[in-house]
Amino acid sequence: MVKPSGKKNKNRAELFLPRDTRDYLSEQFRLLKEKVILEVFTKKGQNDPYNEFTVKFATDLGKLSDKIEVRFNKVGDARAKKYKVSRSPTLLINPEQYQIRFTGAPAGEEGRSFIAAILKVSLRESGLSEKSRELLSQLKEKRHIQVYITPDCPYCPGQVINAFKAAIERAKFVSSECVDATENLDLAKKYNVGSVPQTVINEKIISYGLETEERFISEIVTLEPAEEWTPAVDQKMVEVDLIIVGAGPAGLTAGIYAKRSGLKAIILEKANVGGQVSVTPLVENYPGFQNIPGKSLMAMISAHARNYVPINEGEEVKEIKVGKKIEAIATRGHYSGKALILATGAQYRKLDVPGEAKFYGHGVSYCATCDGYLYKDKRVVVVGGGNSALTDALHLKNLGAQVIIVHRREEFRAYKHLQDSVDREGIAVMWNSVVEEIMGDDNIKAVRLRNTRNDTTQDIETDGVFIAVGEIPNSGLAEEIGIKLDEGGFIQIDRSGRTNIPRIYAAGDVTGGIRQIVSAVGEGGAAALAAFEDLTHPYWLNKNR
Ligand code: NAP
Repeated sequence: MVKPSGKKNKNRAELFLPRDTRDYLSEQFRLLKEKVILEVFTKKGQNDPYNEFTVKFATDLGKLSDKIEVRFNKVGDARAKKYKVSRSPTLLINPEQYQIRFTGAPAGEEGRSFIAAILKVSLRESGLSEKSRELLSQLKEKRHIQVYITPDCPYCPGQVINAFKAAIERAKFVSSECVDATENLDLAKKYNVGSVPQTVINEKIISYGLETEERFISEIVTLEPAEEWTPAVDQKMVEVDLIIVGAGPAGLTAGIYAKRSGLKAIILEKANVGGQVSVTPLVENYPGFQNIPGKSLMAMISAHARNYVPINEGEEVKEIKVGKKIEAIATRGHYSGKALILATGAQYRKLDVPGEAKFYGHGVSYCATCDGYLYKDKRVVVVGGGNSALTDALHLKNLGAQVIIVHRREEFRAYKHLQDSVDREGIAVMWNSVVEEIMGDDNIKAVRLRNTRNDTTQDIETDGVFIAVGEIPNSGLAEEIGIKLDEGGFIQIDRSGRTNIPRIYAAGDVTGGIRQIVSAVGEGGAAALAAFEDLTHPYWLNKNR
């Protein structure tokens, strides 16, 4: 066993992590209670760059807190045999007590789940909701959970943390493993991972994508994919001034402006904080930044918002009731406010062609940032002609994929500079072509294209199909309560974000328009200010206004 030398909290200048990360971690580690043992296993010649990262990262963690002890081992030694470790790098957290494993470096986005796991282990608390604990208490057999991830997938840590919570709550029955698909391609192939996060429980593929905690827990118990999670009825009401639904750029900005106006606000987010921008490879038109990965930009905006307003993640609003107060009934809680902002964004439009649903997770993807790594050195087709399609095509090309863009027209609608980059990179384009079918066996083998000019079809061999054909608004909740929508289903608002229903506002992509980050941010701020103004001077009670 190799141990790092040097005393704790010494030699900080030699640390590998950048200063801001160290400062953030030191702050987090103040919360540590019980000692945490990190067992690191490496083997020279197997994923060497990741081994190096893991060793340096773990060494730093040991230096940042006296509560963290790092033990370095070799794959093949006695400890590796004891814990059945055969892959490099592997990390175990308190293996005598819990079965929590990282198969692959805790790099990129997964740094978050790794730190969260250390904190939970140290506190000896799973952090599961009451309902989840109750569900998991029914488990009477062993479960081995594997969550397949890539380091760039912002949805993945949420699913990994769900798995680790279960492993802490039911340590004897549940073992949880975060597997980096890019470092363990053989495992990814075995479970046919084409989209992440993918969850496998006891060797059975259970789900694709990030799930709410309760849904995930019920799948652990039943070993079956769960349908929609139904909220419990006996929940306590959380009282605020302003409920904000959605934690993308619009919702987060609304939270900042609400709190600064003096309103008590809460943000409810069903999936990941940051919304779709988090999976935008590169943003080049947000003022102040020449270019910045979408996830970095959203990490800054969400950190800013968290200073002002709580964000309840994994909290999907299922129903809104408009009365004297406005109520939001969500998966875990019930919320009551004087006003509500819908910043629910939009979702990927589907092609609706044969094979699209069948191969989702096995070659069909809507997120080049999440899944791009899995197609390094492979052939991919990107469908669409807008900013997203061209950004995705450039990202995939940059990762080393052979890219063909398939577009139904003769020209792109994307920005000129993106078109120039596509030209410069020599990315092939099939113009006037639509996808008729996605074909294959276990994986995609080809797409059938129809030329809209001469009505001929041809099959193109490919390993992946990335679909970027625009968005449809998440305006179902709005529609249910009678908010006016336009013909595309986007919420109609005035310049201040007011809808036709007093005290309900909307902001961001769900309102349509140019759908830019700057406009989402502007609309979020405007809606929060309008809510503040209206709650202090209710215009619907003042006919002379
Ligand atoms: P978009 O601008 O609506 O473009 C969708 C593309 O998909 C269009 O080229 C459209 O073709 C094509 N399409 C739509 N339905 C199709 C179908 N059934 N079959 C085949 N092709 C289909 O969507 P987006 O690119 O996702 O962008 C969404 C919004 O986000 C836009 O407002 C965009 O400007 C913004 N955005 C901005 C940036 C940036 O500023 N860098 C990056 C990404 C997104 P047609 O051209 O024939 O309609």
